[in-house]
Amino acid sequence: MSRKSIGLEERLYQYLLGASLREPPSLAKLREETAAHPHAGMQISPEQAQFMQLLVKLTGARRVVEVGVFTGYSSLAMALALPDDGHLLACDVSEEYTAIARRHWAAAGVASRIELVLAPARETLEARIAAGEAGHYDFAFIDADKTGYHDYYERLLRLLRPGGLIAVDNTLWDGAVADPAENSPDTVALREFNARLHRDERVDLSLVPIGDGLTLARKRP
Ligand code: CA
Repeated sequence: MSRKSIGLEERLYQYLLGASLREPPSLAKLREETAAHPHAGMQISPEQAQFMQLLVKLTGARRVVEVGVFTGYSSLAMALALPDDGHLLACDVSEEYTAIARRHWAAAGVASRIELVLAPARETLEARIAAGEAGHYDFAFIDADKTGYHDYYERLLRLLRPGGLIAVDNTLWDGAVADPAENSPDTVALREFNARLHRDERVDLSLVPIGDGLTLARKRP
């Protein structure tokens, strides 16, 4: 549901890609391999990855946290946008999916920028807070189990520096969040998450209709 931007008719979507996509071969190869995967819809769209690369550069990010790696397309995109001494903490629980990610990170020459931790992300983020890393990160991306979004967000807000940015994926959830008849646990969790952020005075906010909806929350100084 997030392999292309929501709400764009196919012809216009193809135009958008043709007129602006600059996907390097390393990302294109990973996208092709993931397209054959049964959960290929979990991968972000290429124009969203390019947008996130722009955000990483705009924020001058050196330290990034990602919650939810899957086959590593978004991690690879962000790692490519980081400076040579940049660091990406990648949190996931799947050995199987991240094995694909690791192979492509190495092939692209950015494996040294990425620290993959295979454990529940809540535990990883708590451990980093306990280790004194609160305020150390510039950019965060959440794209994992939807019922966990609130917990990840609260921990990431502590790990971010003032002025740092959290990007949250799937916040339009293929339109289900706007449909009162849709009440799956994931849909309800995303609807509540969106409502909570709308009221959250700790951040500046924008819900961008790219991919499957990408919410941007900037930690206010
Ligand atoms: Ca996603």
